[in-house]
Amino acid sequence: MQEGIFLRPLLDLLFPSVCAFCGASVLGDRCLCDSCMEKVRYPQSPLCIRCGTVFRSGEDHLCGPCLRQPQPFAMARSVALYFPPVDILLHRLKFRADKTVLSTLSAMCISFDFSLFSCCDLILPVPLHPRRLQSRGMNQSLVLAHVFFPAESGKIRSDCLLRTRNTPPQTGLGGRERRKNLRDAFLVARTAGIRGLSICLVDDIFTTGTTVKECAGILMQAGAAEVRVLTMARVAGAGSR
Ligand SMILES: [Zn+2]
Ligand SMILES: [Zn+2]
Repeated sequence: MQEGIFLRPLLDLLFPSVCAFCGASVLGDRCLCDSCMEKVRYPQSPLCIRCGTVFRSGEDHLCGPCLRQPQPFAMARSVALYFPPVDILLHRLKFRADKTVLSTLSAMCISFDFSLFSCCDLILPVPLHPRRLQSRGMNQSLVLAHVFFPAESGKIRSDCLLRTRNTPPQTGLGGRERRKNLRDAFLVARTAGIRGLSICLVDDIFTTGTTVKECAGILMQAGAAEVRVLTMARVAGAGSR
């Protein structure tokens, strides 16, 4: 352990890390420099109290789509907005299984109100199909669940919600195609025992919400008391379509 204390500054000196966004050198295990860290944008009130859509003005209220159609989740919140440099870090995590971004993502969580999820009995990551899990090497949603809830690892389960179809990526699909693409893609394990429980569902990005709605829907059908969704980032304007 003692060695680490002396080794770290030496390694920083010999191999300084570079900011993933601007290329400036950074000390320590962060992968963004201070100035790029300040570029990160966070969703702030006024928001839709249900889906978390950010409004331009006024107070927190229900957005039009949430008023017209009840959502299968009780609330959806995100730590940051999906703009540079957050998109770069999530891309590295998802497609390159690069865990060096985690301490920086964790630093972005400092001001987030996790008490919104303290009532949850279980924390379930959106699953990957076993074949995709094998090719990627890790499920980014599971890794993020541990970043969000470092003291709650006993509540994090990846054996409750399963992916039964290896669907093509949602990127580039419209709302209707996204829903069709995900139909019957998920399953709640018979042994999950989620009846009457409050669930926190974790995903990396909230784009149109199709994936988390699909998962929340089948969790509710399986008897969950409620589902609260937490994602690392949210595409601006998400939820209002
Ligand atoms: Zn930078
Ligand atoms: Zn809404």
